[in-house]
Amino acid sequence: MAIKDNLQEILTSIPKSVTLVAVSKTKPEKDIQEAYDAGQRVFGENKIQEMTQKWENLPKDIQWHMIGHVQTNKVKYMAEYVSLVHGVDSLKLLKEINKQAKKHHRIVDCLLQIHIAEEDTKFGLDESELKDLLGSETFGKLENIKVVGLMGMATFTDDKNQIRREFKHLKTQFDKLKATLPKIDTLSMGMSGDYLIAIEEGSTMIRIGSSIFGERNYN
Ligand SMILES: *Cc1c(COP(=O)(O)O)cnc(C)c1O
Repeated sequence: MAIKDNLQEILTSIPKSVTLVAVSKTKPEKDIQEAYDAGQRVFGENKIQEMTQKWENLPKDIQWHMIGHVQTNKVKYMAEYVSLVHGVDSLKLLKEINKQAKKHHRIVDCLLQIHIAEEDTKFGLDESELKDLLGSETFGKLENIKVVGLMGMATFTDDKNQIRREFKHLKTQFDKLKATLPKIDTLSMGMSGDYLIAIEEGSTMIRIGSSIFGERNYN
């Protein structure tokens, strides 16, 4: 099926209040242009250099979301244009984003990544690390970043109950955070395989790649 039809199908299956991030990592610019021509404006990438090249070549009203694990030394390449950083999992990284955003007189929106999966391979903060980060004196002084919510990835499994449980856990942390920080409004959870469950559990932002652009080739 064409990219345009895939997009349409997903958009009709989700509430209007949920933001669709089209995950275009590894995909060529012509695929992104096709989605853009169908009206999509929010795209997600997981490598800063790849995202920056695409940003340079594609329409400037695209909102670029960094959804992958961020290396501190690469933040400088995206600070000028990135619209949301999903995978922030340390104060050190937040400080670097703040520093680079300041050079461009910007305030960069960030999501803190929470570890909800059983797999150790996935990145993210646990509940006490989140608390420590938000409570730290340094965090309170960062003026060029804005934490707008949380992001998480469920375990890669066919067990729908487990996925739902992990999303519920993230939603609980999101609600707690929201009660203390009024700026919090974004809960990024759900991918091609689990976005309908994620939305049922309170997601406000889904990150969909293969169901829009087809399977990825990593060669
Ligand atoms: C690749 C990726 C996605 C999209 O995955 P699909 O299964 O292709 O929809 C979503 N979130 C993150 C963090 C990713 O790395």
